[in-house]
Amino acid sequence: MSELRELYQTVILDHNKNPRNFGRVEAATHDAAGNNPLCGDQIEVTVLVEDGVVSDLRFEGSGCAISTASASLMTQAVKGKPIDEALALFEDFHGLVTAKLDEPVDESGLGKLAVFAGVREFPVRVKCATLAWHTLKNALEGKDDVAKTE
Ligand code: ZN
Repeated sequence: MSELRELYQTVILDHNKNPRNFGRVEAATHDAAGNNPLCGDQIEVTVLVEDGVVSDLRFEGSGCAISTASASLMTQAVKGKPIDEALALFEDFHGLVTAKLDEPVDESGLGKLAVFAGVREFPVRVKCATLAWHTLKNALEGKDDVAKTE
C-alpha cells in the first residue's frame, strides 16, 4: 500500500470513528433522508440555509465506514458555502468517484474529499460515498422523497 493510500485510509477511518457535525440542526430550513439498500446505509441530513448560504448542516444515521466518513467530510466541505457552490462541489465529487480508473481527475478543488478517489476501484462503494451528497442535494432542492442511490 502506498503512503498516499494509507493517508486516505487514515482520514476515512478517523471520520468514521469520530464523525463531524453528527446530529440534527434544530432550526433546519431543509432536510432529507436517504438510503442505500445495497449496503444498508441510512442517513438524514438537516440543513440551515441563510441568505442562500449553507450556514449549518448535520447528519445522522447509520452506515458503513465509507458512507459515514463521506457524510462527515461533506458537512465540513459544504458548511459556509453558497448553495450553488455546494451543488457544484457535488458535481466535482461525483466526477471523482465515477471517473474511469485510467482517467486523470482534477482533484484541485476537492481538498480532503480527494481521499475518496480510491472508491473508483470499487463500483459498489460509489453509492456509499455519494449517498450523503444525493441526500443533501434533495434537501437543498426541496425534494421530500427519499434519496436513492439507484
Ligand atoms: Zn455503504
